[in-house]
Parts: sequence; C-alpha cells; structure tokens
Amino acid sequence: MLSDLVRSLVSPDEIYSMLKLKYSLNTQPTGVLSLQSIATMDSYEFCYALLNKVSRSFAMVIQELPEELRHPVCLFYLVLRGLDTVEDDMAYPLEKKLKLLVEFDDKLYEDGFKLTDCGSGDYKVLLEYFYHVVKEFKSLKRPYQETIKDICHKMGVGMAEFCQRKVVTLADYNLYCHYVAGLVGIGLSRLFSDSQLEEKELASQETLSNSMGLFLQKTNIIRDYLEDVNDGRIFWPDEVWKRYAEKIEDFRDRSDSQSRLGCLNWLIHDALSHVPDCLEYLAKLKDPKVFRFCAIPQVMAFATLALLYRNENVFMKVVKIRRGLSAKLMTSITDMNSVNNWFHHFALEVEKLIPPKDEDLQTFQLVQKIKQLTSTSQFVSSTFLTPKKTFGLVAAAGVVAAGLVYAY
Ligand code: MG
Repeated sequence: MLSDLVRSLVSPDEIYSMLKLKYSLNTQPTGVLSLQSIATMDSYEFCYALLNKVSRSFAMVIQELPEELRHPVCLFYLVLRGLDTVEDDMAYPLEKKLKLLVEFDDKLYEDGFKLTDCGSGDYKVLLEYFYHVVKEFKSLKRPYQETIKDICHKMGVGMAEFCQRKVVTLADYNLYCHYVAGLVGIGLSRLFSDSQLEEKELASQETLSNSMGLFLQKTNIIRDYLEDVNDGRIFWPDEVWKRYAEKIEDFRDRSDSQSRLGCLNWLIHDALSHVPDCLEYLAKLKDPKVFRFCAIPQVMAFATLALLYRNENVFMKVVKIRRGLSAKLMTSITDMNSVNNWFHHFALEVEKLIPPKDEDLQTFQLVQKIKQLTSTSQFVSSTFLTPKKTFGLVAAAGVVAAGLVYAY
C-alpha cells in the first residue's frame, strides 16, 4: 500500500479515500487459505472466504448489497468463477473440458460435486470444495436458482464454442463477450428484478444489460493485451488487428506507434460505444445499494479506458488505474449525478488526448455525444436516490486516526 500512497501524492484526496476505504471496510486478511482453516468452515463461511480470495474488489461491492441479494449474487459469482476456471485451464483435456462446460449447470444439483484436477491457486481450492457452493446454491429461493442455472448453462455452451474456434470477426468478439460478460449483466438484472428491489421490467432489458457486461469485458480485454499475448491467448479480433499488423505480437515486439495506437484507439472507441446504453441502464435503477454495485465497476472501466487511450505502455507492461483513484471513485459514487460527473470527467480526459488532426474522428464524435449525455441531465435516476453518506462520519473520524497510525 505504501507505493500506492506515493503514486497518489499528487492528489491528496485520493490518499484520504484510500485510507477511508481501508479502515471502514471489513476486509479479510490476505494469504493463501489453509486447508486446516477450510476444514473448520461451514458452507456459508467457505463461500465468503473464497469470494474474498478470488476477487477482493468484487467481494467488497457484493458485501454492500442489500441482504436479500447478497447471497444470490455471491453464489452467482462463485458458480461462474468455477465455470471460468474450467474454461481457463489450458492443461485440462479438451474433450473433458467441453463436456464439463456444457454440463456444469447440472453439477449445481449434484450433492458432493467437486473437481480435484482443475485450475490453480485459490481457483483450484474453489473447485476442490465446490460442494459447499452447491449446498448454498440449493438453499437459494427457486427463481434465483433458475436464473443462475440458466445463465451458467448458456455461458458454458458459449465457452465450449470458443474453445473450438477463434475470435476472428467483430461479430465473434461481441458474441464471445456476450457469453462471458453480457450474460452476467442479463442474469444480474433478473436477480435484481426477482428480489423486487428493482422494477420487473429490468429483467427484460437484455440489450442494456448485455452492454453493461460488454463495456467491462472489452475494457479488460484491451488492458490485458500483453498478459494474454504472452500466454498465447488472443481476444483482440483478427478482423481489427490485421488492419494494423501482420502478427498480433508485432504490437509488443515492434515499436510502430502509428499501427499499434491505431488498433488500440479502434478498440477503445468500440468499447466506449457501449457508454450510452450503460447510462440508460444505470438510470433505471432504484435501490441505492444496487445502483452502487452496478455503477462502481462501470466508472472504473471508463477510468481505465481513459488511461489506456493512446497509451503505448499497454504493449509493454500492465497498466492499471491508481489505487487512490479507484478508492476515490468507490467512495464518491452514490447516485446518477455522480456517475454523470465521472463519465463526463473521463470523456474530457480522452478528448484531451485526441490528436489535433482528425486522425481519430470517430472517437472525437463519440466523446462529444458522451459529454452531451452526461451534462444535460438526460439520465437522471428513475426514482429518488438518497445521497447516502456511504461510510459515515464515524468512519471519517476514524480515518484521521488511522492515517496517523499508518504513518508509523
Ligand atoms: Mg475465462
């Protein structure tokens, strides 16, 4: 954390947000889960311990959800994380993998189901003790179970399809992102709607829900270029990168700025084209906690894209937003107004970097549209959203003390 503090020295308010977040949330200690500690856990404890291990940021937002949704969303996440572990294990025999991907949803009703030979690290632990997830899944209300099973099935079938063919066209790219992320958005909308915390009609907003997932997934795919290429995985669509290079590794190996930035800009423009849908979706939400759960990742994604735009470091190292900035985003997003402000801010950040000549006209035009959408209050919350003090004054006071303690 010390290096994060140093990186945020230019923005003292980020340091404040980081400390505020660190000391006001109940986070689990890091480190590998010991087998001994797992042995003493019941299913419920196992699920939350694993959630904290496999995604600390997601664990944080999930645990802020309303009581009614916390457990279903936690299980939804763990089920899909298990499925994704199967997809990602390149050493797993293909035939076995394809069968398992399309049947994974049936395993959710198989008492005692576990996999001992798949994945690594905490993901392997998740599958080794998957019967805990099964047990908790079966305790959910029926409509939640149906949604999770249905989405798990569709995603598994889609993953199996892409285990056998590459992402070539732009349509493939959108379809793959739909399977692994758009379906998550669609499933979450159904869970929200079934909880009755959100309108019934939210479940039928599949295009908007899909865009919410695609915006996040495409941001990750763009950001993870180097890691994926080094691992021999390619998610950037051939149809796009082949316009700029002969081999996708050329972006890493040759410093031809014009071609690699051209390709990067193209993909960022494509990702940003989901922003209007994301704003429309967020404006439909009523519950403040559900809103924050959905909005925080979206704003983080926009912040990431603004950082990646025209940034050649994408081809040389891992580029991530400052922890201080992400803490500031997490603590400041409360309602549609704050989302509009942040989206507007990051649209301006991108605009500043667009070259003066009309080299990237399409991004320029899209940025104008986003600026207009976020400044005219076109998207206001569908009902009231009490601008809640998310962490409260007590936490704020604690931060000052904690900050002093931290200094030593
Ligand atoms: Mg995967």
